[in-house]
Amino acid sequence: MTATHTTAAPRKLSLKDRYALMTRGLGWESSYQPMEKAYDQTGLEGIKIHDWDAWQDPFRLTMDAYWKYQAEKEKKLYAVLDAFQQNNGHLNISDARYVNTLKLFFTGITPAEYNAHRLFAMLGRQFPGTGAAIACQMQAIDELRHVQTQVHSISHYNKYFNGLHDHRHMNDRVWYLSVPKSFFEDAISSGPFEQIIAISFALEYLLTNLVFMPFMSGAAYNGDMATVTFGFSSQSDEARHMTLGLECIKFVLEQDPGNLPIVQAWLDKWFWRGYKVLGLVSMMLDYMLPKKVMSWKEAWNIYFVQNGGSLFNDLSRYGLRMPKYWEQTLAEAEHLSHQTWNSFYNFSGAAAFHVWLPNEEDMAWLSEKYPDTFDRLYRPRIEFYREQAAKGERFYNHNLPMLCQTCQVPLIFTETDDAGAGATSHREGKYLGETYHFCSDGCRDTFDTDPAKYAQAWLPAHQILQGNCFAPGTDPSAPDFDPMAAVFQYYHLQPGADNLDYDGSPDQAHWQQWKGTEAGAAAPTASAAPATPAAPASQPAAA
Ligand code: FE
Ligand code: ZN
Repeated sequence: MTATHTTAAPRKLSLKDRYALMTRGLGWESSYQPMEKAYDQTGLEGIKIHDWDAWQDPFRLTMDAYWKYQAEKEKKLYAVLDAFQQNNGHLNISDARYVNTLKLFFTGITPAEYNAHRLFAMLGRQFPGTGAAIACQMQAIDELRHVQTQVHSISHYNKYFNGLHDHRHMNDRVWYLSVPKSFFEDAISSGPFEQIIAISFALEYLLTNLVFMPFMSGAAYNGDMATVTFGFSSQSDEARHMTLGLECIKFVLEQDPGNLPIVQAWLDKWFWRGYKVLGLVSMMLDYMLPKKVMSWKEAWNIYFVQNGGSLFNDLSRYGLRMPKYWEQTLAEAEHLSHQTWNSFYNFSGAAAFHVWLPNEEDMAWLSEKYPDTFDRLYRPRIEFYREQAAKGERFYNHNLPMLCQTCQVPLIFTETDDAGAGATSHREGKYLGETYHFCSDGCRDTFDTDPAKYAQAWLPAHQILQGNCFAPGTDPSAPDFDPMAAVFQYYHLQPGADNLDYDGSPDQAHWQQWKGTEAGAAAPTASAAPATPAAPASQPAAA
């Protein structure tokens, strides 16, 4: 807010000069210690930078302008949030099942934003170039803002729905949340150039659109104005983050020809790691949104195949090619969401959100979106589950699945090539005489790049079996000891309230009470959604 230039200055500086003074002018050469010691991580990864001054700042934003600009966005956002809360905005969502996508987002993504904040704060310290350091500083603050706005938006839902009460605690413990958590912890424990390519390029540029665009249009379409508004408020920062990632990649590649193979290997790795996190988004789009926006397959086609494809086309002049195994993701797009939701349906006893079976209308939509696979492979299974549930034999899986050592996703996917169709996709590798298990070739490749690192992964299923997931004071030798109940206690999971089927849950009962659709109303899982709010009104421009 404070204008740092004095109005009494004899000469008004040009924007460009002023910008240079307020950014590049902030750096200096160290004199008590050599520069390599002050920036001790920048040489470790083999990336060679000859001239930091060649860094082109993609956005000429000074800190004072940054604060002013962000403050404007905050004012708009909090005005909307206030109105949303005062008007009981949660009653205008399409259906209470929708809130389960928020539970997934809040426990999985919001803590990741906080890790991104930490990562960029550390990264800014490691870049000797001031242009790059300042861009990292701004992004560190952006990410902290994202955490805060998400907490403030979603806290309203926490007053009315289960499953949102312990997101930080759960993120460090609950099995499926180790997937996004390990993605960020892998990045934050990498060297500085790998970090920025992992987050700014692979995550922000290639994959964030897959989280934010479908998620936010899903929120809008399902009447959640609070989430749409924080989404747009974040999205305008994302535009800056993506530009940083792209600028960084071009800068690194222009600095030295030896950088190309290193960067390509990171892109291969981080594309695959990011893609594995997106399995959660795929089931959200295809199964969890009561009013659907687009299928996972469509989203993947638009945001990765088309947008990502043309980006890599541009980058080919630097010698970069599409990330390894991208073709495989196309074949898997026919199966990803169905297999992921199936697993959550089976393991919902240990999740912090509700599940349900798609109704007839949902299944008609799925057949239309997946004409080659849904009716043939997935509809019969859902119908079988429905019959079982009707007979009072609702199936829950009480086993602990094998997890991939790299991405930490359980081995729940099938081979998609003709030869292996239907078989579980499972790879093995050896390290120091031990056998490690992987979900895919991409994950095994990543393990092989640094086995000493990935061998240490904190795999939730293994940790449970080793007895490391019980609350303090638990006595496993007690005669009435129930290991699963002890794990849920450790997770802070309230059985029956936070998890299991939506049908019969307290969330459902409350919703029906609020909407006056209790007993006798339409079948609970039908999308007999109450008066849906008008299509999302125009949003604060995502400038
Ligand atoms: Fe963010
Ligand atoms: Zn994996």
